Amino acid sequence: MDIIIWLFVAFSLTWFMSYARTTLSSFTLAFAALMALGSFFNIIGIVSWLLFAVIALPLNIDNIRQQFISMPLLALFKKIMPRMSSTEQQAIDAGTTWFDADLFRGDPDWEKLHNYPRPRLSPQEQAFIDGPVEQVCAMVNDWHITHEIADLPPEIWKFLKENKFFAMIIKKKYGGLEFSAFAQSRVLQKLTGVSSVLASTVGVPNSLGPGELLQEYGTKEQQDYYLPRLASGKEIPCFALTSPEAGSDAGAIPDYGIICHGQFEGKDVLGMKLTWDKRYITLAPIATVLGLAFKLQDPDQLLSDKKEWGITCALIPTNLPNIIIGRRHFPLNIPFQNGPTQGTDVFVPLDFIIGGSAMAGQGWRMVVECLSIGRAITLPSNSAGGIKTVALATGAYSRIRRQFKMPIGKMEGIEEPLARIGANAYLMDAVTTMSTGAIDLGEKPSVISAIAKYHLTEKMRSSIIDAMDIHGGKGICLGPNNYLARGYQGAPIAVTVEGANILTRSLIIYGQGAIRCHPYVLAELEAANNSDSEQALNDFDHAIFGHIGFTISNISRSLWCSITGSRFLNSPFNDETHRYYQLLTRFSANLAMLSDISMLILGAELKRKERISARLGDVLSQLYLASATLKRYNDEGRKTADLPFVQHAVEDCLYSIQHAIDELISNFPNKVVAKLLRLIIFPLGMWLKKPSDEIAQKVARILQTPGASRTRLGQGQYLTRDGNNIFGKLEQVLEDIINCEAIHEKICRALNKTLPFYQLDKVAELGLSENIISKDEAELLTTAETGRQWVIAVDDFDSKELSAFKPKI
Ligand SMILES: Cc1cc2nc3c(=O)[nH]c(=O)nc-3n(C[C@H](O)[C@H](O)[C@H](O)COP(=O)(O)OP(=O)(O)OC[C@H]3O[C@@H](n4cnc5c(N)ncnc54)[C@H](O)[C@@H]3O)c2cc1C
Repeated sequence: MDIIIWLFVAFSLTWFMSYARTTLSSFTLAFAALMALGSFFNIIGIVSWLLFAVIALPLNIDNIRQQFISMPLLALFKKIMPRMSSTEQQAIDAGTTWFDADLFRGDPDWEKLHNYPRPRLSPQEQAFIDGPVEQVCAMVNDWHITHEIADLPPEIWKFLKENKFFAMIIKKKYGGLEFSAFAQSRVLQKLTGVSSVLASTVGVPNSLGPGELLQEYGTKEQQDYYLPRLASGKEIPCFALTSPEAGSDAGAIPDYGIICHGQFEGKDVLGMKLTWDKRYITLAPIATVLGLAFKLQDPDQLLSDKKEWGITCALIPTNLPNIIIGRRHFPLNIPFQNGPTQGTDVFVPLDFIIGGSAMAGQGWRMVVECLSIGRAITLPSNSAGGIKTVALATGAYSRIRRQFKMPIGKMEGIEEPLARIGANAYLMDAVTTMSTGAIDLGEKPSVISAIAKYHLTEKMRSSIIDAMDIHGGKGICLGPNNYLARGYQGAPIAVTVEGANILTRSLIIYGQGAIRCHPYVLAELEAANNSDSEQALNDFDHAIFGHIGFTISNISRSLWCSITGSRFLNSPFNDETHRYYQLLTRFSANLAMLSDISMLILGAELKRKERISARLGDVLSQLYLASATLKRYNDEGRKTADLPFVQHAVEDCLYSIQHAIDELISNFPNKVVAKLLRLIIFPLGMWLKKPSDEIAQKVARILQTPGASRTRLGQGQYLTRDGNNIFGKLEQVLEDIINCEAIHEKICRALNKTLPFYQLDKVAELGLSENIISKDEAELLTTAETGRQWVIAVDDFDSKELSAFKPKI
């Protein structure tokens, strides 16, 4: 055997075993066998064996490894590890990981993804959507709500309460509906298609708020008293965390409660005097019970030795003395009930703490745990539902509206934004379905909920801007017939609430992802914080050597994927999606490697390098969005007619990943490491392109043509053709216009003239008088013309009507 061959085999063995993530002992044994083979062929001598022993023995003998390697490493780790506040620690501890962990660890199991059950509605949930949800959608006049009365009308409030819209999360035994997360999502999607005010009003009590907190942490007495009242709409809840001084940094609220004795309902009780100043609180102006977050203090040590208890949540009836409530904010012309509240020295018994005094100081944990669920439902569903309806409406408008003698939707310039809207609608529905499905499987997916919240609200914002551009002046002029502008105005609200997006992107997604999804980091941090030094060393030793092997493995995988173009990676399907799985696996390995290298090079500094963590978070997020899209395609029976949506959406995700990695490497603080990373990940440069014009054109055409794919895209939205429903009417006009095209063409051919495609009633008269078309055909042209005129019309007003100032008569 030649030394060159031996070195080649040794290199291949090292590469293969690290790629396959074998254990250190297996690797040592395999390498020893190869050394023995080398000795047999006189290639390996005593010096090489000595060198091998010096390296391999300490690594494989626990005591030596722990004393001489792990212990100094642990000391170093303690020095450089990021300091975590208790609120950060509780946020990290909250929730669970799911498929996000697979994506983070470099080797996603696609079979597992596709084996997760597809969420389905129960008959009761379906009946609710077909019944009360459909009914309330028909009751909505969004212009009346947003412009004329700045509230839901009393009959809608009554209907919502009577039909338990505020009780979707409340258990049946308390009189609630006890719907799955998936069903809640479907209800909100449908509601938001007709009115953001309606969807926000229903979404909030079913998300983070007294209902959720009581069910999870309330005492039996609190549950028995409040939950039936919340379910029947007797109580209107709100949840007040944000204050003028503490928005994103909600853990820093200055609001406080001081434990003391006092009089409550004629009795002397141990209670707390609460003082707060909150703002932006949804439903506060009409709330009867306030879920209040404040810092509990016990200066006189009446409860125990502890003086500072930290963030605590209590339920405060809003009719108590010294509470100011009722004033409203005016959020961007989407006038759902939202406003400030203040309280000064409001005395309540300690029993008012959610979960009683045993839960004093547990408020932050409660909030972040509930947010792990709620954040994946309300805002992502409202965004997805809104864009599904907008996609259909914009497709219809593009086909109906003509300029330069052709539907605007056939112009390449319009096809581009239209395709983005269509692909986003497909992906957003996929993400809400998969994420709520995870919740229904018992997960509290904190990283996934942050991804869904951030990306779906951003996609909603960018898609509504695309839709506005396509509609031109029709989108700009407000009025009862403008079905877009309120969504456009309201988009930043969803972006700002439940963790404003910049913060969510910069800190939460990767910050939680890196610690929760990484197979070893959490164990390392826990070991470093363990006061039992022997146990700490044991745990750290196990975690750090696992971590080193994991990093080496991800470098090997990344290199292998780059050299082979990831062509040898497994893919569960051998069709048009085959390559997507391979590329997602490759980028998953890249993410795992980049994450470890960033932690290694930057240490605690990574926490402050928000742009690095934001880009790592972008990679994780896009992997998740693409996975959800592929899962939807599979769950729906791999219908090839829907393939353009999948291709556009997944290729956009892949392109975004490439862009995020490129930006990360370009801005990586250590330039030598950056060069090596680029060499490993992009040895031949960046090669992925945005979705092609051909795919975009296919998506745009689907949106403009009634058919099964288009129907699937808008599934579950309120499209009933009852005459008052703008979106149902648009669908009807689209069909009429398409049916008229052939009739119009017939008349043109018979007359050997190119007639304009407007004044279709006149065209009908002409066709009829020349005996070219039947009466039915003429009628269709006339109906289509009425519809067409309605579609292109915009509202106008008397000048006095627009003045907000109405002089008193
Ligand atoms: C309409 C509406 C309804 C709401 N409903 C409720 C409710 O019912 N209950 C409730 O308690 N609260 C509610 N909120 C509050 C909401 O959760 C806060 O607005 C949100 O937490 C952001 O706080 P802020 O607006 O004060 O922004 P700020 O905290 O002042 O942030 C300003 C900007 O800085 C960014 N930022 C902050 N910190 C960082 C960081 N470390 N890194 C990078 N960027 C950062 C943010 O992302 C944001 O873009 C509501 C808000 C609105 C507008």
